[in-house]
Amino acid sequence: MIEIMQPPVEPFKIKVVEPVIIPSEERRKEAIREAGFNTFLLLSEDVFIDLLTDSGTSAMSDNQWAGMMMGDEAYAGSKNFYHLEQAIEDVLGFKYVVPTHQGRGAEHLMFQHLVKPGQIVPRNMYFTTSKLHVEIPGGKMVDTIIDEAHDPDNLHPFKGNMDLNKLQEYVDDYGPEKIACVSVEMNVNMAGGQPVSMENLRNLREFCNKYNLKIIYDATRSSENAYFIREREKGYENTPIIDILKEMMSYADGCIHSSKKDCLVNIGGFLATHDKEIFEGARNMVVVYEGLHTYGGMAGRDMEAVARGLREGAQYEYLNYRINQVRYLGELLKEANVPIVKPIGGHAVFLDALKFLPHLEREQWPAQTLAGAIYEDSAVRSMERGAVSKGRDKETGENVFPALELVRLTIPRRVYTNTHIEYTAGSIISLYEKRDTIPGLKMVYEPKYLRFFQSRFEQIEL
Ligand SMILES: *Cc1c(COP(=O)(O)O)cnc(C)c1O
Repeated sequence: MIEIMQPPVEPFKIKVVEPVIIPSEERRKEAIREAGFNTFLLLSEDVFIDLLTDSGTSAMSDNQWAGMMMGDEAYAGSKNFYHLEQAIEDVLGFKYVVPTHQGRGAEHLMFQHLVKPGQIVPRNMYFTTSKLHVEIPGGKMVDTIIDEAHDPDNLHPFKGNMDLNKLQEYVDDYGPEKIACVSVEMNVNMAGGQPVSMENLRNLREFCNKYNLKIIYDATRSSENAYFIREREKGYENTPIIDILKEMMSYADGCIHSSKKDCLVNIGGFLATHDKEIFEGARNMVVVYEGLHTYGGMAGRDMEAVARGLREGAQYEYLNYRINQVRYLGELLKEANVPIVKPIGGHAVFLDALKFLPHLEREQWPAQTLAGAIYEDSAVRSMERGAVSKGRDKETGENVFPALELVRLTIPRRVYTNTHIEYTAGSIISLYEKRDTIPGLKMVYEPKYLRFFQSRFEQIEL
């Protein structure tokens, strides 16, 4: 692994700026209480540096904005759809495309088409919306990521890999007909932005061919995954990112894609596949839930921005800057001994809340607590990715406490400077030095679905 202490030089210059201000200490204290210690409920105005998510928060390029002016807002057959279709074929190699308003729209179509009641979907760790869209048609998502992924200190270079032994057990226990499809997420978000290796994808394809199982990728962060393959996997050191992407996708039957991440846009998504039958199924449904099959909930201009962004987001120079800016934040924290998930992932740095706040019980929601404390200190907004996000067991109704109880500092693409990164690191380091003064939380409001978005908390006296 390369040790990076120098901030990466940005491969762009700034043409438009958006002012941001740091709210006063008094206002920060008030704001986090008004939000019930849930950073999702903070007003964006009260935030100085917003690391809540990398979803839909990218800065678009002059090329993408120029494309927005070329929107063909025809109800049917917009030329921007054909540009999008072409970009997906050129970058990812998929022939069939169904546009959707964002990633979960594609998940809805894909899993409603593939999943029957009682079936399972093995996957390399869950993602919130994906898990829910498997459960709605009566399925269950089961975890088949390698054990190393659950250990925040393990330095495995491809912690997103599927464990084929675990998959074999599911095949043996349930029988292949009970497996709706095998789902593989690229650069696994909930594991800390950890990549899947090409070798693993190749072996998985071979495995699934034996049992006639379909493989569906969550290709949302596949460009960042491709960068890691080039960086870490033997034989790919000089391979163009697009060739790596095409090979990755050649091992899948289809994918869902939230364009709000690697495609450098604010909204959009799609489903893409090599499989005519999946395509026909999804295309029949898209008109019910999203819009006509040549816009699927996006304006023509949005599709143009996705088409251009998909190409830009797969350029090596951009990805090299992107991954190394995330790494710069991680290295600054690591150097100050702040506990983070290692290796540093693609889109975010994850703080290990169990090690950061060891004096708190799991029921005191350490990650939720830490996210609130960071905001109060510096007006930097982060996100809980632990037991609150995980939710309750569907059958027992009990809270599930995953091995990883994390706070995610997600870096929007091309938005913040390296000075913003240094400010953020400085705040977290100072908080770490006074960590035992931070009180835990109790949950006082819990919604039924995706509770992390709207649940509310109160501080417990220390
Ligand atoms: C964001 C995301 C989704 C959902 O996409 P939306 O565009 O937010 O609906 C699905 N899977 C992964 C891995 C994601 O990061």
